[in-house]
Amino acid sequence: MQHSLATLTTLVQEISGAENAMSAMQTIVARLSQLMDVPVCSLYLKSPTRSKLILAATQGLSESSVGKIKLNLNEGLVGVIASTKHPLNLADAQTHDKFVFFPQAQEAPYRKFMGVPLIHLRQLIGVIVVQGTTKDPFSQEAEAFLVTIASQLAATLYNIQRSGEWIPTRRPAKLYKRFNGIVSSSGIGIGDLTHINTHIDLLQVPEKLSGSPKDEQNLFETALQKVSDDLEHGANRIKKDLPEDIVSLFSVYRMMLQSPELRDGTLQEIQLGNSAMWSVRKTALELATVFEMADDPYMKARGEDVRNIAIKLMMQMAKRERSASPDSLTPIILAGDLISIADLSEYSSTQIKGIICSSGSALSHTSIVANALGLPAVMGVADLDIKRYAGQLVVIDGNRGEVVISPPKEMIKEYRQLEKNDQQFNQKLAKYRDLPAVTLDGFHVTLHTNTGLLADVSPGLRNGAEGIGLYRSEIPFMVHDSFPTEEEQYLTYKEVIDAYSPRPVSMRTLDIGGDKQLPYFEFKEENPYLGWRGIRFTLDNTALQVTQIRAMLRAAHGRDNLQILIPMVSRIDEVKAIKDLIQQSLVELNKEGKQVIKPKLGIMIEVPSAMLLLDKIAPYIDFVSIGSNDLTQYLLAVDRNNPKVSRLFDNLNPAVLVALQMIKSKCTELNLSVSLCGEMAADPASVLLLIAMGFDRLSLSAHKIPKIKWIIRQLKREDLLKLLAKANAAEDEAEVRKVLSKKIKELGL
Ligand code: PEP
Ligand code: MG
Repeated sequence: MQHSLATLTTLVQEISGAENAMSAMQTIVARLSQLMDVPVCSLYLKSPTRSKLILAATQGLSESSVGKIKLNLNEGLVGVIASTKHPLNLADAQTHDKFVFFPQAQEAPYRKFMGVPLIHLRQLIGVIVVQGTTKDPFSQEAEAFLVTIASQLAATLYNIQRSGEWIPTRRPAKLYKRFNGIVSSSGIGIGDLTHINTHIDLLQVPEKLSGSPKDEQNLFETALQKVSDDLEHGANRIKKDLPEDIVSLFSVYRMMLQSPELRDGTLQEIQLGNSAMWSVRKTALELATVFEMADDPYMKARGEDVRNIAIKLMMQMAKRERSASPDSLTPIILAGDLISIADLSEYSSTQIKGIICSSGSALSHTSIVANALGLPAVMGVADLDIKRYAGQLVVIDGNRGEVVISPPKEMIKEYRQLEKNDQQFNQKLAKYRDLPAVTLDGFHVTLHTNTGLLADVSPGLRNGAEGIGLYRSEIPFMVHDSFPTEEEQYLTYKEVIDAYSPRPVSMRTLDIGGDKQLPYFEFKEENPYLGWRGIRFTLDNTALQVTQIRAMLRAAHGRDNLQILIPMVSRIDEVKAIKDLIQQSLVELNKEGKQVIKPKLGIMIEVPSAMLLLDKIAPYIDFVSIGSNDLTQYLLAVDRNNPKVSRLFDNLNPAVLVALQMIKSKCTELNLSVSLCGEMAADPASVLLLIAMGFDRLSLSAHKIPKIKWIIRQLKREDLLKLLAKANAAEDEAEVRKVLSKKIKELGL
């Protein structure tokens, strides 16, 4: 039996086009029975309570048994597969001692039997079975095929299984729906679900007729002009900063935008009554295909450029449609695959009540920004079909990582009460603002804030931050349409430095790459977290780095509170190179008559090599700041944005605890000031251990400062030392949390 990858792909496409869960499952069993040339293919799914396996769809058995055949988890042959999580391939099912006969299924004629488990993220979700009339086992090849199909379909079937829509007795349309994700920013938010579609897939744009060709033409032409202007500005600004091949890409794109093929082709489609989106899609795909058919590799590659330019146009059009949305007072919850800062900036901050992302983790940047803004957020809600629920009322519970769609009135009332309780608790904490963060036995902790948004400057001061421990300078870069100039950066940084003076401000140089993308600069890398990120990118684009350093130094004119912090350091030469650039900028600026002084220099410890090289790096720096988010990611080799492995991402993993203690003791030995600025600093359980480890400088989101201060003021470090000893003996993060849970409860958290 030969089944190509194409067969699988077609099947997956057919399923994704299905109208509802039932028809998706029916497609699966029908297509599988056809592909495997068997009379019977059946799908059993675990009931939502997980206590039964229910026949959810079948091709070949009696249709009336769907939803009625229910097996305990260890009952029948399906139960054997479910409990062993292994395939079962039998020549004659009816001779097996676990065989259970269901007369209503009309399965008497079927003897050969093969079933494989459906497993998603290590959890059993169901079983797929094929049956035939002869008495011989299925071939090895057929078994391998079914196993492959099962693993391909597991994620889709997991979503169906969780939705409960396949259970005939349920009427989901009338019920509210609850989805789980990862806790990432606390609080309760209630509003209309607003879909932010950041990924425009050319192939998925629906064919749509337009009401008014004039409006569509207007939409298209405005987008064309805006994208063209952005490209021109972008090219001018980065000309001196970036390699020529990247700069020339901007001109290629602009030429394409203005080409009659794209422009006139689209306008013609619009005149035929099609929507602007569909017209761009149609014209661009035709044009791309012409390029892609060329023999010349250069011409071939232009096909991709056409696709990219069409996506830029469509994103622009989608933005316009969005910002034209009428009511800017209605509270909204933004939901999307990942939500960028640029997306957030399109709405008024009072309108946004929460953020939901289908991917991402507690430490992805959307989550960090949500924390900074004090917005509840839930990440990694992979099962939620955002498009489907757009416009419906949604409650987001950032404390539990839950999303509830269309909750009943009484439930909304309860959530509003919880929201009120949260607000009252926060008001109670306000009185700690000017009190020191000191334990009952006198251990003083300096609390700084993490920021990057101008809107975030005053919350820091309002919440009693004693300085800025981490200024994420990439954030102002993300909300621009192109690289900001030295002057623009200078003005932004100056506002922050002035507002905090004389308190210290650690400004981190640009940390883009990984999940921090700029809307105007595309990084296409196989493995972006291990690639051109942070200092690696800026040192390769020296002019860009020098511009930023100059802007920072100028912004600190007349002050002495600027500290420069380098992200993603993994080698000593990176530190030396930055030191040289700072020195060179100081000399130049002073020559230009701009009086500036040398700032303190620090590195982020995020990459394990930096931690191991501390002895050698120490002579070149004044301080270190531990980026526990990335340090955890790189130590554990777990992508901080990937929901499939997010359960492995835990700052309290024993390996992370060992690393933190190593860094602390090394810094003490080297007399190097050390702080920690990852999200750990805002997690009460982690803070208990950090204080025991001797960390006396933490930097966290402004909104979290009062709570952490309140906690610190109730602790005795002496007690925490005992907890640390126990945590150090733990084998895994669950055990560490168990050690800490009693104390956390005692604190009333
Ligand atoms: C970190 O990695 O812990 C950190 C603070 O930096 P960022 O989250 O911006 O990568
Ligand atoms: Mg980092």
